[in-house]
Amino acid sequence: GPTRGQAAHTEDADGHGLPLPRARRGAAGVSLRRRRVLGGGAAAPAERERKKRVDLPLAYGAWGHYMAKICGPWYFFFGLANIVWATSPASSEEELSRTNPSVLIGLLMMAASPIMILVEHKWGMVVPLMKEYKIPVRGIAYIGVGVPALFSLCSFIAGVCAILCGLVNLFAVLRGEVGKGIRKTEKAKTAADDFEDAVPLTVVQRLAVWWKHQREADQVGQLVVLTLYVVGNIWYGIDTLVVYFDLLAFVGAGGPSYWAPFAKLGGALLNLNCSMLLLPIARGLLQVLNRQRLPGGSTLSTYLPLRKNIAFHKMLAKVVGCAATLHIVCHWFNFAFAPKVTLDIFPNPGNLPFGSKPWYGAVRYAPWVTGALITLAMFMIFSAAPKEVKQAKYELFWNNHHFFILFYVNLLFHGPVFLYWSILPISLYVVERCFRVRRGMREVFVLSVKWIDPVLCLTWKPKYKEHFQFVEGQYLYLCCPYLASDEWHPFTISSARGDLDLDDYVTVHIRVYPKGWTGGLKNYLELMNPTGAYPLYLSHIDDAGRHQPGKSVGPDGNQIIKVDGPHAAPAMHYDEYNTVMLVGAGIGLTPSASIIRAILRHKWRKGFKPEIIHFYWIVRQSEIESFQWFVQLLAELQAQLARDRAANNVPDANYIEMNIYVTRAEDGYPTPPLRESAELAEEYRPFAPFTPRQLLEAMVHPVVKSKLQVQVQSDPTLASNRIGDIWIWNGRPDWDSIFAQVARMRVHPDIGVCFCGAYVIGKDLSECCVKHSDVGRDVKFKLFKENF
Ligand SMILES: Cc1cc2nc3c(=O)[nH]c(=O)nc-3n(C[C@H](O)[C@H](O)[C@H](O)COP(=O)(O)OP(=O)(O)OC[C@H]3O[C@@H](n4cnc5c(N)ncnc54)[C@H](O)[C@@H]3O)c2cc1C
Repeated sequence: GPTRGQAAHTEDADGHGLPLPRARRGAAGVSLRRRRVLGGGAAAPAERERKKRVDLPLAYGAWGHYMAKICGPWYFFFGLANIVWATSPASSEEELSRTNPSVLIGLLMMAASPIMILVEHKWGMVVPLMKEYKIPVRGIAYIGVGVPALFSLCSFIAGVCAILCGLVNLFAVLRGEVGKGIRKTEKAKTAADDFEDAVPLTVVQRLAVWWKHQREADQVGQLVVLTLYVVGNIWYGIDTLVVYFDLLAFVGAGGPSYWAPFAKLGGALLNLNCSMLLLPIARGLLQVLNRQRLPGGSTLSTYLPLRKNIAFHKMLAKVVGCAATLHIVCHWFNFAFAPKVTLDIFPNPGNLPFGSKPWYGAVRYAPWVTGALITLAMFMIFSAAPKEVKQAKYELFWNNHHFFILFYVNLLFHGPVFLYWSILPISLYVVERCFRVRRGMREVFVLSVKWIDPVLCLTWKPKYKEHFQFVEGQYLYLCCPYLASDEWHPFTISSARGDLDLDDYVTVHIRVYPKGWTGGLKNYLELMNPTGAYPLYLSHIDDAGRHQPGKSVGPDGNQIIKVDGPHAAPAMHYDEYNTVMLVGAGIGLTPSASIIRAILRHKWRKGFKPEIIHFYWIVRQSEIESFQWFVQLLAELQAQLARDRAANNVPDANYIEMNIYVTRAEDGYPTPPLRESAELAEEYRPFAPFTPRQLLEAMVHPVVKSKLQVQVQSDPTLASNRIGDIWIWNGRPDWDSIFAQVARMRVHPDIGVCFCGAYVIGKDLSECCVKHSDVGRDVKFKLFKENF
């Protein structure tokens, strides 16, 4: 209850809340505060000097690197185009000569191109050149080669992009960013690869192996979608080529060049792919599709690779990039040989029904201007999309991705036919955004805040339960208007659906980064906690003057938090399997926590799937202290399970095995004090096989090496590391032997593997799922992974 232990209790009795200087809202407010955290303002000169010398990891530097990687090849092409435009037989025609193409600029650009490519390949992600001499050579050089390109309309956009790239590089050096290069990991060879290498196979055998692999990797659905996609593109591409070559033949001499149909091919592929680009990221649509049940009990996601939505979005983006390149290259060469006729085909004032008006020039040149803006938008989006940029500074990725608005608006005017292609997906997306805004406006009450460095647990409830119907494994977006009214951060729901239905609360566990938005959120919540004691319970007085749990409005008069969700996530499909492996690393534990809670607290009692759960959690010894909430949850769930088993409320076939891997464990590490809030509640004590304190002690001092796992588990008399259904291991899991063991002991052929955590672990799991699936032996692991 609210008065337990050291709990703080804040109540918004008069509706005005705590005195608080009104914060500057919006992004500026955030950056002001961040600057303060970063050491501006009143820091002593010596302190400032010390901080100045600290190298920052590459963020803008990484963005600049990817900008330059795009500019390098562009410089070659636009340089060549300059030369072709300047020397083509049509170069004397007014339409071409007015663009001021130049052989000299072309040569300069073509010379700069390989140097750019080489420099970026060798030093791109390592260090801004000549940093030690405080001369940002790379930034200055890119600006230098950017300026001449501006003098010819042919290469204007490439010049703008090179200058932008130089500026970003300059900024990275000024910030003191230093990179370590990209580590390349070699794909480990599997036994199957070795077998294939050793035994020469016929084409038919290779096909059979490939097909078996597709089935084992659960890629049949993906294959069907991809085949349809490729066939659709090829069919539409060929159709476009045929139409335009026919047209060319019809027009005869004096018409556009043979480059024109290929430019149209690029345009057609752009139409098709740009119209699909938004669909895989329409969260509302994904939520509906993911929950779609089919006759017979299966779901749509069993057949459609819905969980690969982001991969599909990225693939479409790459195809858009290629199609745009084809479109530009062919248009540029076509224009070199047929400038007048090409311009005459573009929307022409003479062809318009309104007579002559001065602004018609804008219509005539609209495809050029909109084309340039589309190219610029793509440059910004693509250069900031790689994971190195995203992980280093999420805002760069996020803000640059918003150039999609410029991209789509200009596409609509660039080729009017795109309007027909895009009307449906763009409308869907706009509706989706409206729903997002509407969901975000709903009132939510923050019930309590718990804090054990560095994890913050936020418990809240929606005003109306039916507005937040979620499934375990799903996530939501949080916004704190005090910090920034338009900044949303995703967090997995860590409580179970039954907790909301029965006890009226939802939780999220947030790892706090002091300099980030999460740090700002914690500081803001602290304004409502003058004593600084946790847990902090919040309450308000309702219209009838009664005390009610929770508070929706913060001391600044804004909603404390806004919630947008729930949203579909891969782990939500756990209940389609009889056997599941739940894997979490660090704070990536949250979806597993929600799922285990749902199963042990609510589902098993009602006889719901899954029957068998293998849970794996990897945590650093030094971080265990911050996961006391989970230690408490495990102790509670074990007590509840013991009670249910004693009362025969759980079917005998149900089985749970939990493995905790403690990494970087040091001997003699002190057991952290157990927070009072992590003690076991009175109601569970009579049934508990262990207390949170005992579990914490065992976790901090793992005695058995993880590489002995399979051996120890096959002979439980050896087990000195078992507490209830929980096994505690020292070191990282050996996935290969774990998967082999699960496959050997399986009761059900299909095993769902739900993972949330670092990219590298996801990669290992993905390889193990393929390696240990064997359709011949009737075992198939299907991975549902989420990286954050
Ligand atoms: C589907 C999903 C579920 C998540 N669930 C949880 C959870 O349950 N608990 C938890 O602690 N964290 C979770 N995260 C990660 C969480 O969103 C980020 O840690 C948080 O947004 C960091 O913001 P920051 O400004 O404080 O940190 P920063 O210091 O700016 O960044 C820290 C890290 O978080 C990433 N990040 C920053 N902003 C965002 C954003 N808006 N969206 C996605 N990633 C971002 C950065 O790339 C960086 O790697 C989840 C992420 C995703 C994509």
